[in-house]
Amino acid sequence: MMPTTRFAPSPTGPLHLGHAFSALQAHDRARAAGGRFLLRIEDIDGTRSREAHVAGILDDLAWLGIAWDGPVVRQSQRLDRYEAALDRLRAAGLLYPCFCTRADIAREVADSASAPHHGPDGPRYPGICRHLSPDEAAARVAAGVPHAWRLAIDAAVAAAGPLTWQDATAGRQVADPAAFGDVVLARKDAPASYHLAVTVDDAAQGVTEVVRGIDLFAATDVHRLLQALLDLPTPAYRHHPLLLGPDGARLAKRHGAPTLAALRQAGEDGRALAETLRRGDLPTGFVAANS
Ligand code: GLU
Repeated sequence: MMPTTRFAPSPTGPLHLGHAFSALQAHDRARAAGGRFLLRIEDIDGTRSREAHVAGILDDLAWLGIAWDGPVVRQSQRLDRYEAALDRLRAAGLLYPCFCTRADIAREVADSASAPHHGPDGPRYPGICRHLSPDEAAARVAAGVPHAWRLAIDAAVAAAGPLTWQDATAGRQVADPAAFGDVVLARKDAPASYHLAVTVDDAAQGVTEVVRGIDLFAATDVHRLLQALLDLPTPAYRHHPLLLGPDGARLAKRHGAPTLAALRQAGEDGRALAETLRRGDLPTGFVAANS
C-alpha cells in the first residue's frame, strides 16, 4: 500500500532544525513509496497559535523543498469533528467534567498520603472530579463553571479491551494507556486536546503511516485507545529519533540553533540544509560558542 504521511506542526513558535528533520522524515517516506504527504496545522490552542507562525511554516517548508499534497488542513476549522467525537465518548459514559485548577491538583497530590503516580506526561490526575456525583457535575456545568473533559481511563480501557499497535522500528507494542491516568480530551481553554484532535484528524485525512518524533512514542498508547473507542482505523507508526546537539542531548534552544526563518532570511540554501539533515548531520556553524 502506498503510504499517506503528514507533518503536523503547532504554530506556537517558529520552526527549528528538529522540525525540519521531522518534516523531511515524513515527506521522504511518502515520496520514496509514491504515496501522499499532507500538511496539517495544529492550531487548536487559540491562545498560543499565531498566524505569523502559520505563514512562517509554509515559507520554511517551501524553502526546504518540501511540497505537500492537497489543501493545508487547519484544526481550528474542524472543531465540529472534535465535538462529535466528544459527544460520542460522553454518551458512552467515558467522559467526566473536571473543574480543577492546577493549584487544586497540586494541593491534592501534596496532601495525598501515597506518593503521586507518575505517567508519561507527569503526575497522574488524582481523580478528584471523577468522584463528584453526576448531579453535582451536571449542575456545575449548567452553571457555567469552567471545566475540562477527562477520559475515565479505567472504564475506557475496560471497554476497549487489549490493544496493540505497530512501530516500524520498535515493532509490535502492547498499549498501556492507563499509565497516563484520566487524560484531558477537551481543555478549559481549547475545544479539544492534542490527543483527541490528532487521532480524529489522522483518521479523517486517511493517514496510513504516522511519522513523528520518538518523544511522542508513549502518547501513541492513548491514540490507539481513542481509535478503538471511536471506531477509527489504526495507522502504522514510525517514530524517528530526535536530532541531537553536539553534546549528544536532544537539540534544544541552549544549543544556540537558529530558527529556520533566521537561516532563510540570512540567505542560506534551504535545499542544501535539507540534504545535510537527511544525512543526520547539523549544518556547520550553528552551535553557539557557549554550548
Ligand atoms: N503538533 C504536534 C507538535 O507540534 C505534533 C503532532 C504529531 O505529530 O502527532 O509537537
